[in-house]
Amino acid sequence: MKPVKSEIIDKADKVIARTYNRFPIVITKGRGCTLWDSDGRAYTDFVAGIAVCNLGHAHPRVTKALSKQAEILFHVSNLYYTVPQTELASWLVNNSFADKVFFCNSGAEANEAAIKLVRKYFNDKGEEGRCRIIAMEKSFHGRTMATLSATGQEKMRKGFEPVLNGFDFVPFNDIEALGSKIDRSTCAVLIEPIQGEGGVRCPAPEYLKGVRQICDETGTLLIFDEIQTGLGRTGKLFAYENFGIEPDVMTLAKALANGLPIGAMLTKEHIAEAFVPGSHASTFGGTPVVTAASLEVVKILIEENIIDYGRKIGEYFKQKLFRLKDRHESIIDVRGIGLLLAMKVKVDGDKVVKACMDKGFLINCIQGNILRFIPPLIIGKEEIDSLAACLDELFDRLD
Ligand SMILES: *Cc1c(COP(=O)(O)O)cnc(C)c1O
Repeated sequence: MKPVKSEIIDKADKVIARTYNRFPIVITKGRGCTLWDSDGRAYTDFVAGIAVCNLGHAHPRVTKALSKQAEILFHVSNLYYTVPQTELASWLVNNSFADKVFFCNSGAEANEAAIKLVRKYFNDKGEEGRCRIIAMEKSFHGRTMATLSATGQEKMRKGFEPVLNGFDFVPFNDIEALGSKIDRSTCAVLIEPIQGEGGVRCPAPEYLKGVRQICDETGTLLIFDEIQTGLGRTGKLFAYENFGIEPDVMTLAKALANGLPIGAMLTKEHIAEAFVPGSHASTFGGTPVVTAASLEVVKILIEENIIDYGRKIGEYFKQKLFRLKDRHESIIDVRGIGLLLAMKVKVDGDKVVKACMDKGFLINCIQGNILRFIPPLIIGKEEIDSLAACLDELFDRLD
């Protein structure tokens, strides 16, 4: 039976904790870059589950890999070896700076693993006092207590104090501030190469190289949170490839299985050694069904040339946004890289999001007035043109 929208919404609001401000639509189906709601209305999806569904919805190859694995083996404990987990880890190691992978189920968990690892690394070296992590203002690293403590946004911590000890903050893009903050108590610098939730804030040229250099000079570990930027989002497999440097630790999640819950923490051999049996664990981490799907996802990214396509279409999209900015006073800034794009506006961002939704486009607003565009990497020219036309008309009215 077809779900009735108002009934679902009423029921949901009664029984689901109110941690989200939801738009009043019920999504029932997805295919490629299109989503449908319970009334049968179609939307072009420029949100992709917040940079998750990089291959679009219901990708037939992923569905097939998932179903095939589900028929063979869903889950066993990490007390045993499995083929899909091994193959995915191997793929990630072969295609990144890293030698070792720890699997978990979300971005926050991947960052938790990274935070525990860097502390343990220095503890093992007999440097117990070297336990503080420097993170960035306006960063976002997750909602668990440790990742919240590493998140440089006051509003998210409000009411949950005391947060964890051991985190210091400096402004993003300020190399001097970082240099003067690092001391003998610093074990790591934790940074998003491009700040996602903070407003799609890009690093200044050479900034990340400077961060790498300071870390090298002081023996501090560099953690890149690539949960949002990884897996092709920025036009490269990993965002660090855009900046000519490598981190010591990297966290992934969001797009890694195109919508199934997975997180991963990647690192170098000598750092990974700080984790031994008993140090850290996850019941579901790297479970066969999810890793089998994820392995297919990463294979598709390469085999179907998705990343190169995404980079090119991202440039096209960005040019379109710049042209809109030239035409409309309400648009203050256009920024981003690959298909992690944003437009800062002078008007209420949520109003723009709602107006777009009425016209059949899903877009996202962060920080009140920053419109974020993070479509599947397979988004078409025509779809971008249609959204641009919709925004053009909208801003004609808003200017
Ligand atoms: C989404 C996100 C997280 C948190 O991931 P969850 O899976 O929601 O825990 C952490 N860091 C960044 C940069 C993110 O974009």
